[in-house]
Amino acid sequence: LVLALGQDADLAVLDGVPGVTFSGGTVDVGADLMTGHQGIFAGGDMVPAERTVTVAIGHGKKAARNIDAWLRGARLEPAPRPAPASYGGLNTWYYADAPATVRPRLAAARRTGTFDEVTGGLDESTALFEARRCMSCGNCFGCDNCYGACPDNAVIKTGPGGPGDYEIDYDYCKGCGICAAECPCGAIAMVPEQP
Ligand SMILES: Cc1cc2nc3c(=O)[nH]c(=O)nc-3n(C[C@H](O)[C@H](O)[C@H](O)COP(=O)(O)OP(=O)(O)OC[C@H]3O[C@@H](n4cnc5c(N)ncnc54)[C@H](O)[C@@H]3O)c2cc1C
Ligand code: SF4
Ligand code: SF4
Repeated sequence: LVLALGQDADLAVLDGVPGVTFSGGTVDVGADLMTGHQGIFAGGDMVPAERTVTVAIGHGKKAARNIDAWLRGARLEPAPRPAPASYGGLNTWYYADAPATVRPRLAAARRTGTFDEVTGGLDESTALFEARRCMSCGNCFGCDNCYGACPDNAVIKTGPGGPGDYEIDYDYCKGCGICAAECPCGAIAMVPEQP
């Protein structure tokens, strides 16, 4: 007996809400994830998208930022996306080798007499461990390498030192490229100075 679950959303909760429109079993939303009704946002499986966990989580973050902006009477200007970082743009020495995650394994002898799962799924600690293997390709993760390596103190912090909390002070930068060379994840690019 195979349990087959659908991924269609029950949209009854939005029936009759003025302005909300539907297409193909999903709720129509704008780029800010707001439905046709001011102040009602939607995301995840109930909007036209890939219907995966990562997309649903991303929609949650994106919707939260847009809701926050909407409540402040502002409009969210999305930050420009960083250019994709190639493998050659990464400093892989920075990242420690990670041992294989230990997941529960059923002893070989028991596998012939049971339908129990052979390799168990991730629990909270192993899921967090796997997430830490992310190399943050092209996205600053606030390691402070550029801040510490710049010989001219031209890298300045615009916040507590988290992802993206850095700016280059071009009055002091001499273009040596050390920051770009030291960045583990390829988040800094050297570009010709604009005239
Ligand atoms: C069998 C199956 C396997 C899958 N495998 C994968 C996979 O391997 N990888 C992957 O990335 N994705 C997988 N998916 C897809 C993934 O589960 C969904 O894309 C994701 O869960 C969508 O998240 P969501 O928050 O939009 O919706 P949901 O996770 O469905 O959450 C919606 C929540 O709203 C609640 N709700 C609904 N109506 C109301 C209401 N009127 N009032 C209050 N609460 C309400 C529901 O009870 C539910 O808790 C799978 C889905 C299924 C069904
Ligand atoms: S290019 Fe050189 S001087 Fe300019 S910010 Fe980077 S490390 Fe500092
Ligand atoms: S730009 Fe690169 S080197 Fe600088 S803090 Fe971010 S990740 Fe670290």
